[in-house]
Amino acid sequence: MTRRLKQKKMISCPHMQRANGVDQFRLTAAVMVIAIHTFPFASFNGFLDQVITLSIFRVAVPFFFMVTGYYLIGPYAEKPSYPKSWKINRFLLSMLKLYLLICILYLPVSIYTGTVSFSMPLMELAKVIIFDGVLYHLWYFPAVILGVVICRFLLQKAPISLVLLGTSVLYLIGLGGDSYYYFIELFSGIKVIYQLFFQLFDYTRNGLFFSPLFLILGAKLYLKRGQQTKLLHAKMGFAFLGLALEGTLLHAYTMMRHDSLYFTLPFVSYYLFQFLLKWQPKYRFFKAKEYSLWLYILHPFSIMGVYFLAKLLPFLENSLLQFFLTVLFTLVLSVIPIEVLPRFKKKKRQKIRRAGKEIDLAALRGNYHSIKELLPEKTKLMAVVKADAYGHGAEACSRQLEREGVSFFAVAVLEEAIRLRKSGIQGEILILGYTSPEDSDQIAHYELIQSIFSREYAEALNRRKVRLRCHLKIDTGMHRLGFTPDVQEILPVYRMAYLDCEGIYSHLGSSDTLSAEGRGRTEQQITVFDELLGRLEEASINYGCTHLQSSYGVVNYPELSYDYARVGIFLYGVLSQPDKVLETKLRIRPVLSVKAVLVSQRTVQAGEYIGYGTANKTDRNRKIGTVAIGYADGIPRQLSNTGYSLRYKDFSLPQIGLICMDMLLVDLTDVPEITLGAEIEIMENCEDAAAKGATITNELLSRLGGRLENKTSC
Ligand SMILES: *Cc1c(COP(=O)(O)O)cnc(C)c1O
Repeated sequence: MTRRLKQKKMISCPHMQRANGVDQFRLTAAVMVIAIHTFPFASFNGFLDQVITLSIFRVAVPFFFMVTGYYLIGPYAEKPSYPKSWKINRFLLSMLKLYLLICILYLPVSIYTGTVSFSMPLMELAKVIIFDGVLYHLWYFPAVILGVVICRFLLQKAPISLVLLGTSVLYLIGLGGDSYYYFIELFSGIKVIYQLFFQLFDYTRNGLFFSPLFLILGAKLYLKRGQQTKLLHAKMGFAFLGLALEGTLLHAYTMMRHDSLYFTLPFVSYYLFQFLLKWQPKYRFFKAKEYSLWLYILHPFSIMGVYFLAKLLPFLENSLLQFFLTVLFTLVLSVIPIEVLPRFKKKKRQKIRRAGKEIDLAALRGNYHSIKELLPEKTKLMAVVKADAYGHGAEACSRQLEREGVSFFAVAVLEEAIRLRKSGIQGEILILGYTSPEDSDQIAHYELIQSIFSREYAEALNRRKVRLRCHLKIDTGMHRLGFTPDVQEILPVYRMAYLDCEGIYSHLGSSDTLSAEGRGRTEQQITVFDELLGRLEEASINYGCTHLQSSYGVVNYPELSYDYARVGIFLYGVLSQPDKVLETKLRIRPVLSVKAVLVSQRTVQAGEYIGYGTANKTDRNRKIGTVAIGYADGIPRQLSNTGYSLRYKDFSLPQIGLICMDMLLVDLTDVPEITLGAEIEIMENCEDAAAKGATITNELLSRLGGRLENKTSC
């Protein structure tokens, strides 16, 4: 079978990618900051420090602001939607917490240096905390917080070009209070205003004058992503040259109040960032973000350490050596918060109290990467997390998958989508099922994508006059939901004013079987889908993202390469039903296990009835155990007396009698020793249990009851 690949450029399925070059450069920037605070060239040539350290390396901190601008403010500037605001709020909160933590960490130092004292007037303290930072380098944190708040506020009021202008003006004012203060002092009228400023903050390098411009420049580049800049290298070169020159001249000929704001700095930062966006580093250090942050936070401790060490060991009296030592010490120190402390945070496995499910997120991660390997390069995985991620907990699973790189999720109903948004999921969320047109504003507010499956439904949504993003669902032969694959039926939807059709998909009815009949049906569905896409293209329709396969479709039809594959059950590490062939093809393992506690045991004489009804009569004396889980917890009553067994350590415990609502009985006769409170594994083999219960694992898992305890481990 041949797959017609998309040839025309007009079809687009956009996908946000991390900028690896930017991520990697964070480390370099952090080292530059350390250099600024250690003057590596001081022992050789003070001039070099002026040109390189105090001028060129000044690009480091603006770079960090631009990273925040690019990833945080940019998406918000593009579309100020619920998930983007959520992300900003979360960022502000975590920065505040971090700032508070390091204020405490550095409190002894800041008291020692006199920046903070107990007898300080409140105004003075506020000035230190809000603008200056409790230690010289910590100004960054209040500056990024204030800057983000200001940028968000301005973007609510004005288009980004105007905001850029406004923040540029702020920056120019800031220049006057920093490296250009020498010129301000020549005009006593203006000087008075600056004197007033300095009542409020010691430096204009702060969240009001400095950070907003760089945040907006980052956002601007986010909006321009993908566009080329002509002569970028030349522009960057000139800008750097300009910065070196400006820094040198100002240092040589003026009395600078402070030397961190330069006129050329925004230009250098802007071109450098553009360069980094294009840069694809060959080797990547995956914890660049964490290490750069902690290098930034912790390096003053190393500076102090090296300073005292140099007093003891005179051969260390070399600025370059001291610089390298400081970097090294800080790297070692950073290992504590990044590698060591998280280990302590990992909680011990909690015991199940009555009945619960244990979710192994490491297994989920592994499954995701295994399935991803099966997909063609251009096909991305859309994680199907409907029905509370098949009973696994949609929020925890989605968060984990998002961290692994998943950027598209699918749910069945609106409420599931909203829950994901409220827990902070940033990726796209497609609602596979029906949402009442009356809830249109919710779909829009939470930035969700609705499936549209008929003309009538499309019209009903369109009449609400709320702009909606949607994917069209086509019925290619399953005959459950979707448009008949008829262009005339579909074309009008693309013209509806309030519907943005960003994708098109269908669902296979028999992709889980490779019988001739099943294959025939599937091939037919694929052909119908592809032909429809072709005809839409001929009609000059940009139908956007395409997707067709679910879990079985990915494994049984690996040659298909649509934009996404909607994978559900395999992510959770089980097949729908036992299948020896597939088991060997797929490297996945179960994410969930169900456990319950043994709450009672007794010996029952021969000839007694066990549980409800009279079907189970003991043939001899038996030891019977009661396990605290039943069909109300999702253990199907149909599993009763099917040969289904539970497990305790190495022992298989045959289930006996009819499964009750809240309890079930097991035969413990052959188990030598088991104490009350023992944790019993309820479904050691999910596929097998599903088959015995005459269903598939999809149903079994998604019906696990809400009253089960949920223990999630990383
Ligand atoms: C549930 C569902 C899926 C996921 O199916 P799995 O077999 O669990 O991978 C994919 N697409 C649609 C439309 C679904 O309803």
